[in-house]
Amino acid sequence: MSARLSKCLAALAVSAAMAPAAHALNFVFTNTGSTPMTAQQMAALQAAGNYWSSKLSDPVTIYLGVSFDSLGSGVLGQASSLLYVKNYADVRNLLSADKTTAADTMAVASLQAGNALSFWSTQGNGSARFDNDGSANNAGLLVSAANLKALGVKVNTTADAPDAHLSFSKDLAFSYSRVGGTPGGQHDFITVAEHEIGHALGFTSGVDSIDYCLDHASGCGLSGAANQFEESEWFTTLDLFRYSAPGKLDLQVGGSPYFSINGGASAIESFSTGDAHGNGFQASHFGTSHLTLMRPTISAGVSYDAMPADLLAMDAIGWDVATAVPEPASMAMLLAGLGVIGLRAQRRTKG
Ligand SMILES: [Zn+2]
Repeated sequence: MSARLSKCLAALAVSAAMAPAAHALNFVFTNTGSTPMTAQQMAALQAAGNYWSSKLSDPVTIYLGVSFDSLGSGVLGQASSLLYVKNYADVRNLLSADKTTAADTMAVASLQAGNALSFWSTQGNGSARFDNDGSANNAGLLVSAANLKALGVKVNTTADAPDAHLSFSKDLAFSYSRVGGTPGGQHDFITVAEHEIGHALGFTSGVDSIDYCLDHASGCGLSGAANQFEESEWFTTLDLFRYSAPGKLDLQVGGSPYFSINGGASAIESFSTGDAHGNGFQASHFGTSHLTLMRPTISAGVSYDAMPADLLAMDAIGWDVATAVPEPASMAMLLAGLGVIGLRAQRRTKG
């Protein structure tokens, strides 16, 4: 099993201020590993960054630390994002101020009024509950540093204190160039890097932390009591669009949630529901039935970029999407976690 993040890694206070618009979306990759990256590795990382820069137009710079490490079996990569606690109402206001598309307008219109969210959630004893008590998990969200930047909040990250850290396997066979196609038995690094960057940009779910902490209460600094998830923030901007029925914001582990920007009336794509207690994949992913960049699996021998659902998700959480014309491909598998979002290549899925 790969690492997940616990709450402790996540919460920090943020100082908010509007960032001045300047240039286009820019990525700065910094090697934080002990071994220098090869020119091929650096070029592939930059290609992944350039891809996102071609799709998202927010004039911000995202700093990403990168290293190649020994990860868990079958794990291609992991990502851990700097997360900030923000009031739900503030996030809603930021999303509203950042509207640029019809999809944004629809997404913002679907957000609940008031200072605290009401949703279905999984309690500390695993039971389901409609949670509308206005406690910390209702009133606050965890928002990645990069996502905050997309929303116009100034975040003082640097190359030395990056928005997120990406760790890629030094043991698995990557193909670093798309020229000539991806050889069988190798994973396209650019696809994997685009996926991990997607997590850093804010494609994460707090459901993963709940899923993990159900089995590791003490490691998460929790008591194991039924109400253990009430008094701190867990959920993310993307979780605002996680529904299982019209009007049913569903942040439970497991179930059949889907991505929706109209309050659950329409399902754009299914979500995965939890590594331990869900569908076997981290909830910070789309489901497995369609090919998307943010699905949890990736097969060897293929390469692809974001699909419409991926770009719509970025749009909904506050990124400004230029124009999207995605292409189809085949299967893949990747993992994510909150705070630590892992991207793994599991050969088992799809063989
Ligand atoms: Zn992932």
